[in-house]
Amino acid sequence: KENSGRESNVAKIKVVVRKRPLNRKELAKKEDDIVYVEDNSLTVHEPKLKVDLTAYVEKHEFCFDAVLDEDVNNDKVYRETVEPIIPTIFEKTKATCFAYGQTGSGKTYTMQPLPLRAAQDMVRLLYQPVYRSQRFKLWLSYFEIYGGKLFDLLSDRKKLCMREDGKQQVCIVGLQEFEVLDVQIVKEYIEKGNAARSTGSTGANEESSRSHAILQLAIKKHKEVKETRRNNNNNNDVNDSKNGKLVGKISFIDLAGSERGADTTDNDRQTRIEGAEINKSLLALKECIRALDNEQIHIPFRGSKLTEVLRDSFVGNSRTVMISCISPNAGSCEHTLNTLRYADRVK
Ligand code: ADP
Ligand code: MG
Repeated sequence: KENSGRESNVAKIKVVVRKRPLNRKELAKKEDDIVYVEDNSLTVHEPKLKVDLTAYVEKHEFCFDAVLDEDVNNDKVYRETVEPIIPTIFEKTKATCFAYGQTGSGKTYTMQPLPLRAAQDMVRLLYQPVYRSQRFKLWLSYFEIYGGKLFDLLSDRKKLCMREDGKQQVCIVGLQEFEVLDVQIVKEYIEKGNAARSTGSTGANEESSRSHAILQLAIKKHKEVKETRRNNNNNNDVNDSKNGKLVGKISFIDLAGSERGADTTDNDRQTRIEGAEINKSLLALKECIRALDNEQIHIPFRGSKLTEVLRDSFVGNSRTVMISCISPNAGSCEHTLNTLRYADRVK
């Protein structure tokens, strides 16, 4: 397939739902699969009881840009969501791809392989004559928002702060960026960053469900470096990402578990604070995407740290993909309906 990089007919906002299969535990408990997928729509069969305790089913039907059934693999997910956006990043687009859903619904499983595939395609485009001649380079960074604070996942969880430069560009002070010359290194960065995610005292998965992980791939245009200067200057200056001007970028965001936003009445103070922050950020995110869709001038990004950090992805030439992950089991029905309603409002 030929990609000139000038595709502009890619939808500004795309909302996709992905259903995972029943897991071993749910199968062992003989839980019902209550989610039925057909083309771009899905139906949730909510088990209910009448006052006299007779069981009945309430059906909820939803329709999205795409619904990916449990047999769809990650390769297909990539092609449905991120692949069409990649060429636009070389043409000044800022893109975001979110995974939303309750803990255990498949967000991380879905997000993990996407940056790797994206980097593959981006590196391929970099070597096309049209871009090679423009001295484009690919840079990677990976950080986390936890309790409203930023941590660099690729430099020992160094605490970061955010600043806006006069040109509405978000700058995360101190965030390490690494040049991507070959794709294998991307896998290593992802693994390193994942190992650095919040683990707290109660165990890895539990805590990482309270943070947003953000991996960014940025294309920058670099000034010509004169041979003489390069020879006189051995301090790696040529590889400094600050010497480049941002062309476009894509952010992959593994959001905190959506059910964590409800932890606002927990007995533990820290948990309450985190729950409130998560709740705020997921609400603000929804509002920002809706504002984008309505081409509103005012984007309410100041509502949370998450949306502030993504501010420059909500203005101008932007693309957003929301992947809503859902569990199929009857026990998750309430969370599944919440996730689908959220996605429905973003759509
Ligand atoms: P989350 O990040 O939303 O908490 P995970 O991505 O960790 O959820 O998924 C929970 C479990 O379900 C993991 O063991 C994962 O491997 C498995 N899983 C998730 N989605 C799928 C899928 N589409 N197919 C097969 N297994 C999946
Ligand atoms: Mg996860």
